[in-house]
Amino acid sequence: MNTPYSASILILAGDGIGAEIMPHAVTVMQTAAKDMVELDLVHADCGGCSIDAHGVPITREVIRQAEVSKAVLLGAVGGPKWDGLPINQKPEKGLLQLRSHLDCFANLRPAITFSPLATASSLKQHLIASLDILIVRELTGGIYFGTPRGIEQSDNQRKGFNTLVYDESEISRIAHVAYTLAQKRNKKLCSVDKANVLEVSQLWREIVSGINVKYQDVELTHMYVDNAAMQLVRDPRQFDVLVTGNMFGDILSDLAAMLTGSLGMLPSASLNVANRGLYEPVHGSAPDIAGQNIANPLATILSISMMFRYSLDLPKVADDIDAAVDRVLNSGYRTADIMPDDSTETITVVGTDQMADLVNQELKRSKCENSTSR
Ligand code: NAD
Repeated sequence: MNTPYSASILILAGDGIGAEIMPHAVTVMQTAAKDMVELDLVHADCGGCSIDAHGVPITREVIRQAEVSKAVLLGAVGGPKWDGLPINQKPEKGLLQLRSHLDCFANLRPAITFSPLATASSLKQHLIASLDILIVRELTGGIYFGTPRGIEQSDNQRKGFNTLVYDESEISRIAHVAYTLAQKRNKKLCSVDKANVLEVSQLWREIVSGINVKYQDVELTHMYVDNAAMQLVRDPRQFDVLVTGNMFGDILSDLAAMLTGSLGMLPSASLNVANRGLYEPVHGSAPDIAGQNIANPLATILSISMMFRYSLDLPKVADDIDAAVDRVLNSGYRTADIMPDDSTETITVVGTDQMADLVNQELKRSKCENSTSR
């Protein structure tokens, strides 16, 4: 069969478990893409491995390659070997440079409960069963970037200060992303702010509400951030898509992610205005377990699923990957980080390579079934 189009993907495996997981995750990606899209894969260095090979955490050539790629898939960067370097030369600087060059202003963090892992949550099982929410965080503005900022001497003491600032265009572009995503899901959008105290939040609320006329099929609600934190723990399934600013999103997305269990299961996407994106697991390079074939590859594999959904516009392929992961977990396979403390079912502990291979085999099987049933 001829594939409909091709897409260039930049693969930055990085350091530690990033480098360990990536070859297996790429195999899954190629199986998923088969007959759907031709992938033009470019492999390059980022992070500590780039410092070792090129003297900088990311080279100009790699940034240029990222800018012309449809998507960038990143493993993880960093490790003790480079901890002593000045802040501007550390491996993480490569990732920050990449985010800023790609202008990835929309960070997407799903919180999904895979039913076999419901017991891994710290919440009661009935509260998180079938949970599927998406937090859309503004990533390039707000208090983390606002000026003036600093620490200065004032009278007899020092004072620290930062600026929480958003202009209309920044609010508007993240709101459009969130509305569009809500339209493709359950058509519910909750905008999170602190409009009872902050003028910037009053503007945020006004702009997000104004845009609702363009997305009349989406039900918009507003919630103060303190209440949103409580509601995410009290009854997370009331939400579909949440949209919020940089700092509120930073906190709420970690809170929501942990509702569902292990760091080894958490994917993320950061998109720019052209829907080109940087896809990466939430976890770091995990030097404590690197090289032991025990790291969970599912966060990277689920990041690939997000890549097919959001940058390659192939939601069916993304659904196939998610379903394959679900089936593997349902069959009782677990990496060490998601092993239950006690279980009445038969559970098999597997390594990084075997977990990725199981997902790959499931994908192959479902593709085969689909093609014979056509
Ligand atoms: P980490 O996410 O690497 O590890 C935290 C804990 O979770 C560790 O105990 C680790 O073994 C475990 N863990 C993480 N991913 C796992 C997986 N897939 N399977 C099983 N267990 C997993 O965070 P850290 O230890 O704070 O940071 C280690 C290094 O990674 C540091 O250099 C840090 O700067 C870097 N880091 C990079 C990124 C990134 O590349 N986006 C993100 C966070 C941290």
